[in-house]
Amino acid sequence: MNYNTEVINQMAQQLAEMFKSVVTAQQESDGSTATIAQIESDMREALRQIGNQALGLFLSSMQTTPEKEIVCSCGGTLHYQRMREAMVISVFGKTIYVRAYYAGCRCKEGKAPLDKQYGLEPGAVTAGLAALLALAGIEFSYDKSPKWLQAYLLFDISENTVRSETEQMGALQEKREERLIQQSQDEQYLQERQRNPGRIAPRLYGSIDAAKVRTEPRPKKGEEKEAHEDWRDMKVLCWFETELVPPSQRSKRQQKKVLREQAALRARNMQYFCDIATAEAFGKLLWATGCTVKADLCPDLAFLGDGALWIWNLVTQYYPNAKQIVDWYHAEEHLEIVAAAAFSDLTQRAIWLEEASQALWDGNVEDVIAACEALAQTCLQASQAVTYFTNNMERMRYDRFRAAGYMIGSGTIESGCKQIVSQRLKLPGAQWIVTGAVHTAKARAAWLSEQWHILCAQRSALPLAI
Ligand SMILES: [Zn+2]
Repeated sequence: MNYNTEVINQMAQQLAEMFKSVVTAQQESDGSTATIAQIESDMREALRQIGNQALGLFLSSMQTTPEKEIVCSCGGTLHYQRMREAMVISVFGKTIYVRAYYAGCRCKEGKAPLDKQYGLEPGAVTAGLAALLALAGIEFSYDKSPKWLQAYLLFDISENTVRSETEQMGALQEKREERLIQQSQDEQYLQERQRNPGRIAPRLYGSIDAAKVRTEPRPKKGEEKEAHEDWRDMKVLCWFETELVPPSQRSKRQQKKVLREQAALRARNMQYFCDIATAEAFGKLLWATGCTVKADLCPDLAFLGDGALWIWNLVTQYYPNAKQIVDWYHAEEHLEIVAAAAFSDLTQRAIWLEEASQALWDGNVEDVIAACEALAQTCLQASQAVTYFTNNMERMRYDRFRAAGYMIGSGTIESGCKQIVSQRLKLPGAQWIVTGAVHTAKARAAWLSEQWHILCAQRSALPLAI
């Protein structure tokens, strides 16, 4: 939209004069000087009120002369009743406008065509505000969001409104994913992609992980609310590419990596997806979202994960040719657990860990297994580690992976679980209804994947029941 700069200048001039006279009058009456913070705050409030009135006046002005009768969506006839006032909650607060109202159809529904034209639902939040509320909701706990939003918006919003708008964004993302899943099972679509693939990443990574979310069982109708809580697995998937970090931009951690003959890589183009679902259902999401990043067409696809069997089963089922790498940090953690359990002497513990860790780094998984086996007789954790390292041996050839320049640990920054589950779903006191957790997480995943604008556009275009 183009604005008329001259008009904006005139309005600004008027506002400045209004503030000047108020501030000067106050100065003359009690000698006090307004601080810049006070002026800023008062001016923001004034602009909010101006915006609120302007939006209401604008909407009312878009109402054309009403026709006597219009066709109802049910096929019947609606009759013009009167001009009727409505209120929506916009980015400026409660906005009032007036529009033509129709009723008298056989379906008994009343309608206001202007509402439909702008996607407005009387009493509800507008699409513009919904996007901002959901943005707070994916970042802060729902009970803290209202206070934070008040400081930015200058009016009060309830916790429940933030929750429902955030979850609605997640529900839209869920619908998007359902469409992707449908599309990914369509032979024609897959063949067309193969003919015109467009850009294919030279090397692509998938990272799969899961984290526990505390949920409360939703009581069935007529049932007493159950007291016990429940922990459910939120599965998280991240598709990404990597790029070399230039020497001048390397963090201490990355500098250390280079000294240990590991490429200083960082993730880019991250695409996060998540769900509380069975491995089978999650596999469909893995395939469908993989189609959008062309994982199946990529000549060099690598998966990072912990040792969990369901992850490698899915990878083998959908991407049999992909390289499988156990995330370095997960693998090393297993050695730390063994060392802590087997040695009470701190020096001995450090020596054993140092040696085993070096062997792992060099890809000598056989040596790591032998080191654990030596402790297995007296240490349960060591015997469990033997199984873990034996099952994942080929996924831990870190010497080869490093030589080929692969990222071997997704680390903390790129980790999907940390980004989505730990930083939002595990905020203090959080307990979730399953759908609430899923929708909040999906909304957050869309934001982190730069897909937010798609959800906002869909939220704007929602067909509202009017
Ligand atoms: Zn009707």
